[in-house]
Amino acid sequence: MTIIETPSPNFNDRRLPVSMIVLHYTGMVDGGAALERLCDPVAEVSSHYLIDEDGTIHRLVAEEKRAWHAGKSRWRGIEDVNSASIGIELVNPGHEFGYRPYTEEQIDALVPLLSAIKERHGITRGNVVGHSDIAPMRKQDPGELFPWNRLARVRLALPRPTKNLMDPGWSDAGFLVALERFGYDVTDKLAAIVAFQRRYRPELIDGTIDGECRCILLALLLPKPQGDA
Ligand SMILES: [Zn+2]
Repeated sequence: MTIIETPSPNFNDRRLPVSMIVLHYTGMVDGGAALERLCDPVAEVSSHYLIDEDGTIHRLVAEEKRAWHAGKSRWRGIEDVNSASIGIELVNPGHEFGYRPYTEEQIDALVPLLSAIKERHGITRGNVVGHSDIAPMRKQDPGELFPWNRLARVRLALPRPTKNLMDPGWSDAGFLVALERFGYDVTDKLAAIVAFQRRYRPELIDGTIDGECRCILLALLLPKPQGDA
């Protein structure tokens, strides 16, 4: 894995141990513009890594330092997500400038990088998240075209549950309690539902809680049945 050192001045010291990885898209016209912004002291934003559409990996901030990518966010009770996470930006114009599929080269570069980071810090699959998962009111990245299933196949992210699905029949209030239990900030109910759908049911993002959403969330929360063997 070749990593180009492209240091950003935008970082400070961590106040928490690393326990999460946050994936982003850059949401700018191209990779050059994104790199420039992430290294601009005036912008006060950064990430640890950036992966261009040709698969080139740039390191902007050392993993032991706190990069500035999460903004106001919350996941599983952690509010200083920048202190607890490694941030990876994938070059993509995003919803504002022409959202398009991630390239094969990008994902081929992401998989070993993510695998090494996850291993190095002992990060669980459930804590490999998208920006929209931790800031549902503000963010849509990395978006519904991000290939979470490819990461899940190599155990780098949670898979979308597909087997033995059962509808627990929760009320909408019950669903939101469960969603918060799983990790989402549900302060804005609609935003939280949309973020969950974007991650786990991207073919229908309508902000409406239905039986399929309940089935998926129940399966994510339940431990695997062990039987009595
Ligand atoms: Zn982001």
